[in-house]
Amino acid sequence: MRIARFSIDGNVAFGAVEGDTAAGGGTEGLVLDIIKGIPFAEFELSGTKVPVSKVRLLPPVLPNKVVAFGRNYSDHAKELGNTVPETPFAFFKPSTSVIGPGDEIAYPSFSEELHHEAELAVVIGRMCREVPRERVADVILGYTCANDITARDVQRREKQWARAKGFDSSCPLGPWVETGLDLAAANDLTLQCTVNGGQRQLGRTSEMIHPIEDLVVNISEAMTLLPGDVILTGTPAGVGPLNAGDEVAVTIEGIGTLTNKVIKRG
Ligand code: ZN
Repeated sequence: MRIARFSIDGNVAFGAVEGDTAAGGGTEGLVLDIIKGIPFAEFELSGTKVPVSKVRLLPPVLPNKVVAFGRNYSDHAKELGNTVPETPFAFFKPSTSVIGPGDEIAYPSFSEELHHEAELAVVIGRMCREVPRERVADVILGYTCANDITARDVQRREKQWARAKGFDSSCPLGPWVETGLDLAAANDLTLQCTVNGGQRQLGRTSEMIHPIEDLVVNISEAMTLLPGDVILTGTPAGVGPLNAGDEVAVTIEGIGTLTNKVIKRG
């Protein structure tokens, strides 16, 4: 099931997405069956349906925290001149960095070099800590697309990445959460990033150095994960610059396409 979060007439709700996505990720023709309750508990479909074209899609979840893993694809680590870490290493993107499909990525005043990073995002479904490897599937609600927008010049300049990767609008998520993939499937999906229709990144989640299970085990050793928390799993090679006016799209096989426009902050 694809679960979207959306607003209509000032109300916010979750809905199950029905219909086939158009070529290029267009949402024309898709319909939302409004969910009674929230997707983190047992819920029912209301049977009340609205066309996606009549609503505004929002970030599919409001995470308490976004935990992002760095250098999880060796080709990407190499392209930035970094070594591949033996154990996963994580950093945070704050909840205020999250934006939804169609929202604008705004250049921060202190950067001249934003980069896209297409990533598979894991959405946590229930409160958990110290998750054993064999229980990882039980704590995952589903998967969505993410773009780990990075101020590369600032990342090079500053030791900690809080500003480089945590500024407002640096974490587009969406367009919805796909709940129908098991771990084996999620660890073997094609992901790509296009800018103005031209391909920039193309990889497979099977190239991840540490698969999803390892990442959930690693971070949950340290901290409690809450329903709606998001884990970014790293980006394949091909990261590159974004300019104001660009349209950047992250497409992941079996999930969908997350599209955002880049603007200069006014
Ligand atoms: Zn990243």
